[in-house]
Amino acid sequence: MKNIMILATGGTIAGVAHSGADTIHYQPAVLPVEALLSEIGPLKDIASLSSEQIAQIDSADMTQDIWLLLANRANVLLQQPDIDGIVITHGTDTLEETAYFLNLAIKSGKPVVLVGAMRPSTAISPDGPMNLYNGIILAASPAARDKGVLVALNDTINSSRDVTKTNTSLQDTFKAPELGYLGYLADGSPYFYRIPTRRHTYMTEFNIGTITELPQVDILYGHVNDNGALAYAAAANGAKGIVYAGVGNGNMSQAIKQAFRELQSQGVVIVRSTRVNNGIVSRNGAVDDDHYHFVAADTLSPQKARILLMLALTKTRDTSEIQEIFWRY
Ligand code: ASP
Repeated sequence: MKNIMILATGGTIAGVAHSGADTIHYQPAVLPVEALLSEIGPLKDIASLSSEQIAQIDSADMTQDIWLLLANRANVLLQQPDIDGIVITHGTDTLEETAYFLNLAIKSGKPVVLVGAMRPSTAISPDGPMNLYNGIILAASPAARDKGVLVALNDTINSSRDVTKTNTSLQDTFKAPELGYLGYLADGSPYFYRIPTRRHTYMTEFNIGTITELPQVDILYGHVNDNGALAYAAAANGAKGIVYAGVGNGNMSQAIKQAFRELQSQGVVIVRSTRVNNGIVSRNGAVDDDHYHFVAADTLSPQKARILLMLALTKTRDTSEIQEIFWRY
């Protein structure tokens, strides 16, 4: 029997509403982890469970301090021979960001699975208990080893690199559009069909144990008539990097290019991502990156590119090296 640790952080899976019909109006992050575990009943043939409450928040309030706490705690636990895997309960709004951060920060091939819920625990048919059950099944499965940090909701298994929340309120919301699920969960078993190809977990060069603060990286959203004013404001407010969610293939106006050139002379690193939900932002595609010293974000969403840039900036400020990091992860 496997030993699985549940690390709880809050979210709708721990949420409470006034009525069983309420799935939009409710208070997230109320129930303690012990109450979540009592909802799924005994798992005595599958896993021996222990738990810790790391935070109790709406995931909109997730912080880099909690990320570092979570990553460091997970790294300590995963080194213990008596821990076989970890399940993290999390609000769905920023679940994909925490999952990708941990995918780059955790130094173990043991399974780490993030779960959440779209309906509060008091709903007539909540999704949290089944998602938590499936998360534990997955974390206890040897098939989940060496696949990076995984996200399991609504009977699906996703890679933390590619997954995103695609619908504000439906249960069928976590997907990797176009790139696809890694697999499914059914009748208490995981079924894998694909594996992540980018480096993750113990293969990464990032050493979280030595980091107390991550560099400030801000995201700016591209649009018609973007005059660059917010880029200057971000740098004035301390940004060491900017991820630009550009139009199309990470494209941008002449005005924003000019603003970025000025900010680069102050040491700010610029990464081109896109406001389009799918596809590669290709180097020297819509914009001549070699000329402008920009970094192309590949298929990472702006919020994932921000995380990778924060970690990359702990290693280097050289844009060629940062570009290589973006191809690797
Ligand atoms: N606002 C909630 C959160 O992210 C939403 C959820 O968990 O579904 O904490």
